[in-house]
Amino acid sequence: MSEQLISFIRDYFRSEEFIPLHAPVFSGKENAYVADTITSTFVSSVGAYVDRFEQDVASYTDAPRAIATVNGTAALHIALKLAGVKPGDLVITQPLTFVATCNAIAYCGAEPLFIDVDLHTLGLSPTALESWLSENAQLDCEGVCRTKEDHQAIRACVPMHTFGHPADLDGLVSISKRWNLALVEDAAESLGSFYKGQHTGTFGELGTLSFNGNKIMTTGGGGMILANQELGAQAKHLTTTAKKPHAYEYIHDQVGYNYRMPNLNAALGCAQLEQLEQFIAAKRVLAESYRDFFHGSDLQFFTEPEHCRSNYWLNAVICQDKVQRDALLKSTNDKGVMTRPVWALMNNLAMYQGCRRGDLSNSEWLEERVVNLPSSVLQGTA
Ligand SMILES: *Cc1c(COP(=O)(O)O)cnc(C)c1O
Repeated sequence: MSEQLISFIRDYFRSEEFIPLHAPVFSGKENAYVADTITSTFVSSVGAYVDRFEQDVASYTDAPRAIATVNGTAALHIALKLAGVKPGDLVITQPLTFVATCNAIAYCGAEPLFIDVDLHTLGLSPTALESWLSENAQLDCEGVCRTKEDHQAIRACVPMHTFGHPADLDGLVSISKRWNLALVEDAAESLGSFYKGQHTGTFGELGTLSFNGNKIMTTGGGGMILANQELGAQAKHLTTTAKKPHAYEYIHDQVGYNYRMPNLNAALGCAQLEQLEQFIAAKRVLAESYRDFFHGSDLQFFTEPEHCRSNYWLNAVICQDKVQRDALLKSTNDKGVMTRPVWALMNNLAMYQGCRRGDLSNSEWLEERVVNLPSSVLQGTA
């Protein structure tokens, strides 16, 4: 299997060199837009590309407002603050995620509460969520969701759309409403992914995106907060040092953050966004080729959930067991074809191992079996 997979991947990417997991492609107006910021000297906190990039992302995702930030982690930090997360609160999320999800929760002085993922979405499971809440939580007289045991407030719910595949949003939206939890989607991996025709990251109070170098499109480093007009205005204020608008005075009305995206990075983002649909088309062709390749084998290629248009940011295959996974990882990486296991579960990391959790059997099962495959946009197809 490994030998055939390696030659399949090398044929597809038409390369005998090292094949990375995900490389960015700059085949549009990147040079022109970035050079424009340099010529104009507006490379930093002032400049037209930030406004343009925010408007372009808002219109692509159909979010009322989009606020650009330095990275996706900063975007999630501010989104959680605006969702009302305070020190001492609990915030529900999945253990199968990148560490940034939990770090943003910790920056608020809150603690993650780990609930399992679904096997058919790889995202937070509405079934596991409902079952944990009905057993362990209750609404107090003010309608705040609290643990039965010690009355700790559970303030928000943060699903993550793993590898770009949308989580079960209908279920998560309805449970979050019923239990009075602010829904904040970590859509860092799912720019371009739609659930029932609606863009991921626009289902909850707030959603966040990432434009890190390994994501489906990049600004070098960067992120975005998706929100309604009112929360969007607050997000803009908080991420730009909370300065009150004034012609020349420096008045700041709260502890703000210097989380704004520089104009230089936004210029790159404008050029990348113009190519996003082509990137996704190329990725969907690759995903289909992988699906055909694995058809009839004992490895299960992960395909988009029902009612979804996934961006297929990172292709994933599920092995039969850990022995098969380890063999696949070793043979491909030895031959210069980069593959990776999924992240170590968050509840096993030193700083989060004491956190509360529900039953995590699906996450544990996936942790031993998932392998990510090379997923770059093929040069020349975008
Ligand atoms: C990439 C990513 C982020 C944000 O990462 P930054 O590098 O800070 O932009 C957050 N959550 C998940 C799940 C991610 O994959």
